[in-house]
Amino acid sequence: GPTVAIVGRPNVGKSTLFNRLAGRRLAIVHEQPGVTRDRLRAPVRWKGRLFWAVDTGGLVDLQPGADVGGAILRQAAAALEEAAVVLFVVDARAGLLPGDQTLARWLRRLGKPVLVVANKVDSTAVEPAVHEFAALGLGEILPVSAANGRNVGDLLDRVVERLEQAADAVP
Ligand code: GDP
Repeated sequence: GPTVAIVGRPNVGKSTLFNRLAGRRLAIVHEQPGVTRDRLRAPVRWKGRLFWAVDTGGLVDLQPGADVGGAILRQAAAALEEAAVVLFVVDARAGLLPGDQTLARWLRRLGKPVLVVANKVDSTAVEPAVHEFAALGLGEILPVSAANGRNVGDLLDRVVERLEQAADAVP
């Protein structure tokens, strides 16, 4: 089946989202950025569709002062190459950061369908900073909470739609 890659800066909630989509705790959630973690994949079934969620993992080579965006990109490159759809996770509580911009530039060049997932919107009390993330130039922004599952069903609906569009686009 098609794969959906989960990318984003450290600590935005990629592992938490992966675990939420996988429906069980497969990836280890780390409190600190910069830890080594293998890429993990899990089958996701939603409304009769099957896709593979791929967690792009931690940073193997992040040193103090290192190029954070570059390190993430090296980790994520293989997952992105095979992905039909990309989930670009950003932290709605932290707002837009330079690392997000670095990744966004790369994703715009990649030219694959991207959904911007504004994570950590645990309740209506959290402002999802949608206007800031619109500046990433990647289109649709979906506020979710990977931690409590808020709006994750809507995200899955959109993923399945994008997968169908991507499949239709293949000659
Ligand atoms: P990763 O480095 O991008 O894989 O991020 P993790 O999944 O390891 O999460 C980083 C931190 O953010 C952890 O402390 C998580 O508990 C926290 N976190 C992840 N998702 C959410 C969320 O939806 N809401 C809140 N409040 N915290 C979250």
